Amino acid sequence: MVRVCSNCNNMFEDIFGKYTMCPDCRELEEDLLRRVKDYLWDNPGTTEKKLKEVFGVSHEQIMMWLRDERIEITPDSDIVLTCERCGSMIFTGKYCKDCSERIKRSVNEIKDSLEPKPEKKVKMIVNRSSFKDSKMRFTKEDNN
Ligand SMILES: [Zn+2]
Ligand SMILES: [Zn+2]
Repeated sequence: MVRVCSNCNNMFEDIFGKYTMCPDCRELEEDLLRRVKDYLWDNPGTTEKKLKEVFGVSHEQIMMWLRDERIEITPDSDIVLTCERCGSMIFTGKYCKDCSERIKRSVNEIKDSLEPKPEKKVKMIVNRSSFKDSKMRFTKEDNN
């Protein structure tokens, strides 16, 4: 599908339908992200204001990277990131450890109840082994 880049407004082909920016802008963003990461590594406790000053990134951009787990904040940073479920402080991602584990568990439970796959698997194995048996018997009889 053809999309319009949210950054430079150029049209680009998006095969997977998951990008909002053209390849050029995505590359620029990756490059920026790398530099921000290096900076955060060298300067723990960097404030959001400082990041904006140094890199010209927006609050939305910083939050997006944090939610995507591309960057992490340190406990002494003034950037506040909270769990979308319970509101407790987190350093990266969308949810705190407890909530993400709870969500993962409930997703797995839903998956389990929707997919009665194990039964099928067992059937296939049984079929294959009985096929083997008949072949063996056939060979034996042939030799006699
Ligand atoms: Zn672009
Ligand atoms: Zn939580």
